[in-house]
Amino acid sequence: MTAAQDLGLPLFILGRESDTHSERGVDCPGSLPPASDPALVERARAAKAALGDRLFVLGHHYQRDEVIQFADVTGDSFKLAREAAARPTADYVVFCGVHFMAESADILTADHQQVVLPDLAAGCSMADMATFDQVEEAWEELEDAGIADDVIPITYMNSSADIKAFVGRRGGAVCTSSNARRALEWAFSQGSKVLFLPDQHLGRNTAVLSMGLSLDDCVVYNPHRPGGGLTRDRLRDATMILWRGHCSVHGRFSRQCVDDVRQRIPGVNVLVHPECRHEVVVAADHVGSTEYIIKKIEEAEPGSAWAVGTELNLVQRLANAHPDKTITFLDRTVCYCSTMNRIDLPHLVWSLESLARGEVVNRIQVDADTAHWAKVALDRMLALP
Ligand code: SF4
Repeated sequence: MTAAQDLGLPLFILGRESDTHSERGVDCPGSLPPASDPALVERARAAKAALGDRLFVLGHHYQRDEVIQFADVTGDSFKLAREAAARPTADYVVFCGVHFMAESADILTADHQQVVLPDLAAGCSMADMATFDQVEEAWEELEDAGIADDVIPITYMNSSADIKAFVGRRGGAVCTSSNARRALEWAFSQGSKVLFLPDQHLGRNTAVLSMGLSLDDCVVYNPHRPGGGLTRDRLRDATMILWRGHCSVHGRFSRQCVDDVRQRIPGVNVLVHPECRHEVVVAADHVGSTEYIIKKIEEAEPGSAWAVGTELNLVQRLANAHPDKTITFLDRTVCYCSTMNRIDLPHLVWSLESLARGEVVNRIQVDADTAHWAKVALDRMLALP
């Protein structure tokens, strides 16, 4: 008997069933094709061909190769949401990414379009770090401190539709890692303080490195502590109130990783995403969004060496696409985004074959009121100069 059976936990054959108690949101009715099925690639092709123009498949850069090969468009979360909105002829948008991205696609697409996430367990640990109730409670703290009228909330694209709607209702906007600076500039033209959700690192890195604020201007609001773990005076004195959230993938990179790779590969260029910790971004040579990272590598001189601090599927793909350059992962420890990796070929085949039979599975649908206010926040971002 295994340790899992000892504990009374069910054991499942890979891809056949799911444990709905341990995996929040998992819902794959029926049998998934086994991961070892050699016909999976052919089945995915056949289902895609059968659906034709009625189907549009989006693939985030952090997806596995086995999945990304079926994407009609690849990109970061914002680019993909806009691509979905630009395809009104597609009845079905299959989003190979994580939950908040599929929500954004649903908000930005027309009512007749149905957005499908092949595995509902593909969430995002960062987005989950800011729940609606926690953010409502934090806002009450700001009201009690007498500063809520001065605060403009800004939420990163990597947040749930609930949080985007919260921000929209309170005069704030969404931002991406490419336009975070412009979003903050706009916010500071509307109010004297910003509540930045849910990624403290993107908020801090943008405020300090791009806007000239000091680390002392920033405080971290911890939703698990009374009053966010801050005194009223500390809250009143702060310019940037950073939510205590982070990306479990980018948060792994440390200053030590940067020092080690510089020793291992003399002359290496260190290129990181702004979701990395402040000390990592400060130690790096270049910092930018996923699209920036891809462009930087594409434009790099042959023979140059790069250590890249972002999700591993993307770094491996860049290394394979540019054999004339030395491209390495910034950390020595292998780390994929485990929730992104939930979308595998069996789940993709299952969702495509279901759609080809006329059965819509794992539809992501945001209620009308939430969608309205989330779109207000998204539109404010789109209107940024
Ligand atoms: S890489 Fe980080 S932010 Fe992106 S989906 Fe994974 S956990 Fe979320």
